[in-house]
Amino acid sequence: MRIGIDLGGTKIEGIVLDAGGNVRARQRIPSPRGDYDDTLNAIRGMVAHLETDCGERCSVGIGMPGAISPASGLVKNANSTWLIGHPFATDLEDRLGREVRLANDADCFALSEAKDGAGSGCRTVFGVIIGTGTGGGIVHDGQLLSGPNAIAGEWGHNPLPWPREEELPGPDCYCGKQGCIETWTSGPGLSAAFARDTGRDATAEEIARAAQAGDPKAADAIRRYADRLARALASVVNILDPDMVVLGGGMSNIAALYTLLPDLLPSYVFSDTVRTRIERHRHGDASGVRGAAWLWPERQTP
Ligand SMILES: [Zn+2]
Repeated sequence: MRIGIDLGGTKIEGIVLDAGGNVRARQRIPSPRGDYDDTLNAIRGMVAHLETDCGERCSVGIGMPGAISPASGLVKNANSTWLIGHPFATDLEDRLGREVRLANDADCFALSEAKDGAGSGCRTVFGVIIGTGTGGGIVHDGQLLSGPNAIAGEWGHNPLPWPREEELPGPDCYCGKQGCIETWTSGPGLSAAFARDTGRDATAEEIARAAQAGDPKAADAIRRYADRLARALASVVNILDPDMVVLGGGMSNIAALYTLLPDLLPSYVFSDTVRTRIERHRHGDASGVRGAAWLWPERQTP
């Protein structure tokens, strides 16, 4: 069986997944915020607890914010800043006495949805998280795509394609550039665009609710949001040609996207027909732990 652990900024969640994708045991504990050593110990304790519960030694996969730099083996880009600069993978392997696989949360989301979620049975899945940020992961033939920079699927910091005049140069992004896809397609991105266009302050969720209730300015904001998302997705579809795009994160709950996006994509995708399916996630928040568990697709336990 497989253990999947989702290492979040406020909580650590772990499950044991059997070969059929059923959850056999689970545990949730608060993250030892700010303490690297305590984080390692907490994970060791969780693995021991889960293995006692299920009665066998398991493989261990971990979903985490940020990534392990292939160049240095050290954690980079993590919002759990106390992990940054540490050789997290090798330290964990020492504590757990086995090989451990790690991936970022967007990769775990994509893997979980491709394995037995919305994208089950698809050859190539582009899993997208649009929430406080914009991330993505790519699964092909059941395997997570990973490359020498550990950034496969990270489309959020490409520029918004086919920009309109009023979209240039675009909002400042924390990465140092302007007009990144994330600054338009994340929840805060929608909220900021709405404030610029209407002078009204509202969260993405409030805008979506107002649009549904018939507020014309909110509905307009959602249409413009969908058009930007369609442009951003089209640039990925033109390169990757995935069978399915699975949307996750808070913005994926905007029901209108699933009718707007299929209508908008053909204007931007370089093809006479667009057969790419756009679907909402099936596992939602559970994709973090489930995808982490599936980092070990093999049957044997290390
Ligand atoms: Zn950026």
